[in-house]
Order: sequence, then structure tokens, then C-alpha cells
Amino acid sequence: MSNKTQEIAGLYQSKVMPTYSPSVVLSSGKGVTVRDVDGLSLYDFTSGIGVHNVGYSHPAVVAAIQEQAKAMTHCSNLFINVPAVKLASKLVDISGLDGKVFFCNSGAEANEAAIKLARKWGSQNGGRYEVVTMRQGFHGRTLATVAATAQAWCQEGYDPLPVGFAYADFNDLESVKAAVNDKTVAIMLEAVQGEGGVTPATEEFMKGVRALCDEKNLVMICDEVQAGMGRTGTWFAWQGYGVKPDLFTCAKALADGIPMGALVSNAKFADVFTVSSHASTFGGNPVAAAAALAVIDVIESEGLLAKAAEVGNLFREALQGFVDKYDKLLEVRGKGMMLGLVVDGDPKEVVEALKAQGLLALTAGGNVVRFLPPLVLKEDDLEEAVDMISDALDCVFGE
Ligand SMILES: *Cc1c(COP(=O)(O)O)cnc(C)c1O
Repeated sequence: MSNKTQEIAGLYQSKVMPTYSPSVVLSSGKGVTVRDVDGLSLYDFTSGIGVHNVGYSHPAVVAAIQEQAKAMTHCSNLFINVPAVKLASKLVDISGLDGKVFFCNSGAEANEAAIKLARKWGSQNGGRYEVVTMRQGFHGRTLATVAATAQAWCQEGYDPLPVGFAYADFNDLESVKAAVNDKTVAIMLEAVQGEGGVTPATEEFMKGVRALCDEKNLVMICDEVQAGMGRTGTWFAWQGYGVKPDLFTCAKALADGIPMGALVSNAKFADVFTVSSHASTFGGNPVAAAAALAVIDVIESEGLLAKAAEVGNLFREALQGFVDKYDKLLEVRGKGMMLGLVVDGDPKEVVEALKAQGLLALTAGGNVVRFLPPLVLKEDDLEEAVDMISDALDCVFGE
């Protein structure tokens, strides 16, 4: 570690609560690479955890942020701001759900809004409130979303958690049916589980959940916070399954790092929230909304949905090659540019070796190395990255 990195990391350790354990100090990013305070360049295959789908500092996004910041950074929801209205109609448009949008500032907050909306509707429809979520799912760190996240490491120490959640096994429709009772109001899931291990739902499961929600009059909620905004090759991952949820949430990649979350509904649930029944001071912030409009525009004009699928397939093939080569690599999972390499062992060791080669990656689910590269990744950058991955895997698993 250089003196500069050491100095800032030391200050971090003494002054920032240790909810994360970062060691690299970054100062800038451009496209698919980031630069640390010493000028070292690294491939960022985390995209800031699924945020920079259009790459770091995309000129169109930077310009939109600058222009809106000059005009007005905030005006509260007591007044209408133009970018937020445009963004709401754009989200309704690209999702194909014919409802309305509630804006907030993060993924957890968007999920919290979805849970509240479902409960409000349930209170008028049979006094139902319970939300069924999936084991290995992840929905955020507020108390309610931690209760919705059926993973012990996330809940430990926070009792008593809010009541009203029941858990089922992902990709097991019978288990979901068994968790539904006369208090159930909603089923909430990720079409591709991110934190839990980069596991896509099966088509049968997604269709089964939709049919169950129709049959029992339940709200189907898709959490698109990680998989959304083009990452899996469609705007939202559920669009790859031929089903439509009643509500879905997005955040991470929505505004390219300007904090923003959104809850999108279909027509049936568009007016469940009424004046004063839910709120957010910053929700729909004009700078965030302007950034999000630019993100959507870039994804459309640069054909990034198709590219996520195409380059994602090339990346998947390369990773499959490593699985074929090393006994300790078990499987490639995921969709588009959301890929996981399942390891027989500790994925952190691989992530450290990748970092030493100059590539940043994530872990997931305890035994998965997770790759979330920017969707603007070009084939020659992918080739270079695959060479780095090859060298890193050789360091960890080679003879
Ligand atoms: C990251 C994530 C969240 C939480 O989002 P925050 O913005 O960190 O609150 C919720 N759901 C999923 C699927 C996520 O990946």
C-alpha cells in the first residue's frame, strides 16, 4: 500500500463506522475503468455494485447532471419538477406496466414503499398484510427490508424485527404455495437473485408465482434493484420471463450513482397511495431524474440491451471455459452481464487475486464470485479482462 492509500485508509478506519471493509481508495472513473489515488487503473467489474450500467462518467449523463444542477437541484414534492414527470412516464413506458411511479432514494426505500403499498391495499382487501419472500433473496437494510431478507447474517442482532413476513424457497413453487395463507397479501422476489448467489428464477417458477398471485388475489412484487436497467439484456429482468408483476422496484443503476429509487405499479395499484399516505423529501429529485433520463437515453441510443446479452454471452462462454478447466470451479450462473462463478471454497480468495491482477469483482451468496461489468464493455476490454481472470484463477487454483 502506498503512503497516500495508507493515510486515507487509516482515517477511514478511525472515523467511518465499519459496515464495510474497503482497502482501495478510488479517485475517478471512466467507462469500464477506475483509478485509485496513486493513479493505478483497474477494470471495475462491480460497476459500483450494479450502478454504472452506462460506464463511469458517461458524457451524456455528466452533461445532464451539470445542466440540471445549474437550473435547480431540488424543489420538494410540494411542487412539480419536469425531469421527474418525464422519468415517470418513461419508466411506465419501458416497463410496459400501465400504472404510476413513486420516487425515493434507494433500493431499500423502494422496497419499503412496495411493502407499504401492498399492506395498504391489503388493509382494504380482507385485512391481509403478510409478504412472502424467498430464501437467499436480498431486499435492503431498513428494518422492514431486513425482515423481508430471509438470510440470518442480515438479521442477526436486530430483534425484534417487524412482523408480517414469511419465507419460501426460491424456484420451488410448492414451497411458495405452502407459505401463503389467508393473511398473505403479496409475494416479493428477485427474478435473478443478486446478493444471494446470482441465481436466475426458472421460467416455470416466475409463471407459477404469477398464476398463484392471480388465483389468490396477491400482489406480485419484483425487486429489480440489482437486475434492472438493462443488466440482464432486457430493461427489467422479469421481462425475460413473459410475465408482468403488479409492482416492481429499481434503484442501483437507475440514475448512474445519483441516489434514486423508484416503485412502479400497474394500473390496478396506481392509486393505492393517496395524498399524504407516503412521502419522501428528496424523492424524484430533479438532478437524479435528469441523470436517469440520460441513462435511459444512452441505453436506447447505444443499443445496450442487446449488447448486455451479446457481450454477456461471450463472457459466460469464457467463464465456462474456466469451469471446464478447474475442478474447484463448479458452475457459471446468471443472465446477461450479471454473472456468477460458483467456487468450491472461499470466493474472497479469488476476488483478492483478481484485484492483484487489476480487476475488481464481488462475492455473492458465500461461494460465488460475482461479475457486474458496465454494459458498455467492449469485446477487446472483455478479452483483456478474461486474461486477467485466467491469471488470477491460475494463481489460486493452478498446480
Ligand atoms: C442492493 C439491493 C437492494 C438495496 O438497495 P440499497 O440502495 O442499498 O438500499 C435491494 N434489493 C436488491 C435486489 C439489491 O441488490
